[in-house]
Parts: sequence; structure tokens; C-alpha cells
Amino acid sequence: MARDTGSQCKLCRREGEKLYLKGARCYTDKCAVDRRSYPPGQHGLTRQRQSEYRLQLREKQKARRFYQILEKQFRNYYDKASRQKGVTGDNLLRMLECRFDNVLVRLGFAASRRQARQLINHGHWTINGHRVDIPSFQLREGDKIAVAEKSSAKEVIAEATAMTAVVPAWLQADHDALTAQILRLPDRGEITTPVQEQLIVELYSK
Ligand code: SF4
Repeated sequence: MARDTGSQCKLCRREGEKLYLKGARCYTDKCAVDRRSYPPGQHGLTRQRQSEYRLQLREKQKARRFYQILEKQFRNYYDKASRQKGVTGDNLLRMLECRFDNVLVRLGFAASRRQARQLINHGHWTINGHRVDIPSFQLREGDKIAVAEKSSAKEVIAEATAMTAVVPAWLQADHDALTAQILRLPDRGEITTPVQEQLIVELYSK
């Protein structure tokens, strides 16, 4: 599986805000955005020219990086979203939000999407009683998530739950039993991802 193996903090600095890609470190004063709040690279401190295209492109890159998805896969999500009924931007964000790896983070069962992906790939989670090792798996209303009975990662998962203050209203989590349920699909207002999806739609619909 292809994945971005570069520096995570550089991605946040490029987008100019915290994308919380590194788990616990993101909440400490070691966060690179707090320490160097300018883009990485030789021209990081040079003033950037703004254009409509640049704004749209940055917004798309931010969303892609937040959910840790490569360009081709992100484009596929957009194509699917545009074929669905309703507002394309809302559909896109809802699909991204309902990915298995993202839901584990929202539930507090992983400190970052990268960690969530690793836990899923290594078979530590089940959905409706079946082991699922696909991070992009789309969860639906009523799906039940549980840690695999013989999982050796229960301690790591418990550590992640300690960092979670609030679980969104569309999810229900039991941090003691390490189980959860999708109560319903999220509304746009419940998705806290810091992106303006309309700019992404404008970019792709050119
Ligand atoms: Fe981003 Fe976290 Fe690195 Fe801060 S510590 S720059 S939030 S990945």
C-alpha cells in the first residue's frame, strides 16, 4: 500500500495549522507549528502570492493530509461524492469521516490516523464480529466496532483513550470495554475537520 512517509510536521507547517498527525506530541510544546509558524523550506519566510487557484489547491492538500490520503484515492472519493445525491462537499467530507481509521481516532481508540491504520492493518479490530484490516473501510449506521479478543494492543489503545476528551454525538464509545457503535452518519456541522470543502469542489470541477 502506497503511503506518504515524509515528515508529518512539515505537512502541518505547509498548511499553516495543526493537523494533529503525530498523536501525543501534537499536544506538547514540541509541536513544530507552535515553534516555527512559517512554511518549511528555503523560501518558507518569503511572502507567498495568493491566487484563487492557490487557495483551492491548499485546501485540497490540507484535507488530503488531514485524512492521510494519496491524491488518486482522494480524487476517487470526490468522483464518488459528486455522483451521490445532495451537496458534493458534504458527501465528500462524510465519506472521509466514516473511514475506519478516522473513526478510530474520533472514538479515541488511536492517537493519530497513522496509529489507527497500523492497528487496523495488524488485525486488532473487528466490525460486526468480523476482523477487518482495511483502513479505508466505510462504516455505516449501526456498525459495531470492537477490539479483537486476543489483541495484544489493548494497552496502547487504552493509552490513546486517555487523550480523548469528547467523542462526537454520532458515535458511541465504551472506553473500558473497547467497543463502539456508529449511531448515525455525521451531519456537516459535526465534522470538525478544518477545511472549506467548497474550495475543493471548485478546484476539481474546473
Ligand atoms: Fe502537526 Fe502534530 Fe507535528 Fe504539531 S506535532 S506540527 S500538530 S504533526
